[in-house]
Amino acid sequence: GQAQIGVTGLAVMGRNLARNIARHGYVTAVHNRTDAKTKALVEEFGDEGTFVPGYTTQEFVDSLSSPRTIIIMVKAGAPTDAVIDELAPLLSEGDILVDGGNAHFLDTRRREAALREKGIHFAGVGVSGGEEGALLGPSIMPGGSEHAYEKLGPILADIAVSVDGTPCSTHVGPDGAGHFVKMVHNGIEYADMQLIAEAYDLLRHGLGRTPKQLAEVFTTWNSGDLESFLIEITARVLDKDDPTQEGVPLVDVILDEAEQKGTGRWTVQTALDLGTPVSGIAEAVFARALSGHAEQRKAAQPVLPGPAGGAEGSGGFVAEADADQFVDDVRAALYASKVVAYAQGFDMIRAGSQEYGWGVDPGAMATIWRGGCIIRAKFLDRIKDAYAKNPELPSLLLDPYFADAVAKGQEAWRRVVVHSVTAGIPAPGFASALAYYDGLRRERSSAALVQGLRDLFGAHTYKRVDRDGSFHVEWSGDGSQSQG
Ligand code: NDP
Repeated sequence: GQAQIGVTGLAVMGRNLARNIARHGYVTAVHNRTDAKTKALVEEFGDEGTFVPGYTTQEFVDSLSSPRTIIIMVKAGAPTDAVIDELAPLLSEGDILVDGGNAHFLDTRRREAALREKGIHFAGVGVSGGEEGALLGPSIMPGGSEHAYEKLGPILADIAVSVDGTPCSTHVGPDGAGHFVKMVHNGIEYADMQLIAEAYDLLRHGLGRTPKQLAEVFTTWNSGDLESFLIEITARVLDKDDPTQEGVPLVDVILDEAEQKGTGRWTVQTALDLGTPVSGIAEAVFARALSGHAEQRKAAQPVLPGPAGGAEGSGGFVAEADADQFVDDVRAALYASKVVAYAQGFDMIRAGSQEYGWGVDPGAMATIWRGGCIIRAKFLDRIKDAYAKNPELPSLLLDPYFADAVAKGQEAWRRVVVHSVTAGIPAPGFASALAYYDGLRRERSSAALVQGLRDLFGAHTYKRVDRDGSFHVEWSGDGSQSQG
């Protein structure tokens, strides 16, 4: 065969990725379970590069030069296993099989181990940026062996977006490392969007600002510390009127029940196993879940009392004279909460890397997230710098730049949380980020009492601040302390 690389699975992502690869001059073999998509790709975009269509799996495999490199871009889960099972018997030792879908990193570990036995290099590669990113330059998080990366790396670096001349693709680590980091990226994306939504809610209903006015606020924020793709598109969504009615903001006719495809949930499930408190991501996943419980919400509305939740009809809770201050407070609270969410996400990357022995470089992850992906932001340059200065940074919050930024914003942050509570506008992301921050900096935590309770009801023992060892009190006996 003559093709340098192949793509199987030509739905939106696979098709655009194949076009991106071909546009970069690679002879690209293309294949899809149903022929129609393969034909359509070659007919519509055949002039963008050199495509070699394969209408059977055998034809596809034979069209590739050895050692073969094949990217699978199909539905995650069982379909990916089905495609691997079909391809593997046709491959030779040394071939590289890439999964570019949103696989769970544990599936990637399992597949990598099974294919390694057959001498096939399996690389789980996280691809972020949606269909537009796949075509024009995604952020890519490749996992897999060094050997696979040697061949794959240069191609991925070519098709990834670049920021300041650096491609947003780098070898993350072996087996599931790439998909793990992609999962955490998506978790952070959930947290970031939740915080933005809370900022909107507080300004909309707490201050009584219109979506159009808030589009301007977010546009202004986008020229400061918060500059990011998500803040930019927030302004666009808030500025948009319903295309079917004049003068009605689109955001007011969109059903307020958020959906999820599951990567945020995976992040939280995995974080529980690793014991990493990603409270910002968890709040975001649970806030979406609560929004989806429409029946409960409807039943609760007339029954559960509380403040009216904002300016509409209730006069608001911020005097107009203090409005500018409040807008700036919300900006500061958003920034500080965002730093916490990212600090937690990077903690999780470190914990995963330690657990599975991946050797992931957190600064390199910040570097490849600067472009192409949904959480791309100026902010990531700061994270990259923080880890460059101190690769062993115990928490992002302790980097001098971030520590100072959060310290400057913390009074505003506290005021915003107080306002949200007073007005009855839920801001779980802001509040839990603040609780995490206070929990982290507190000299003594309330866990001393928890340990005491555990010793009383379960003889689980406790440690002491003043001497080594484990201790237990004879709670129902003479009340004396024994050493275990
Ligand atoms: P889908 O997830 O909708 O999957 C459709 C593709 O999978 C089609 O090519 C389909 O073939 C193929 N397929 C499904 N079942 C099988 C099977 N049993 N055997 C062989 N092929 C099968 O496509 P997307 O392009 O949206 O996503 C592809 C991957 O990329 C997914 O893993 C997704 O999670 C991931 N991803 C998606 C992003 C996005 O924004 N959409 C962003 C980043 C990653 P057929 O045409 O024959 O039905």
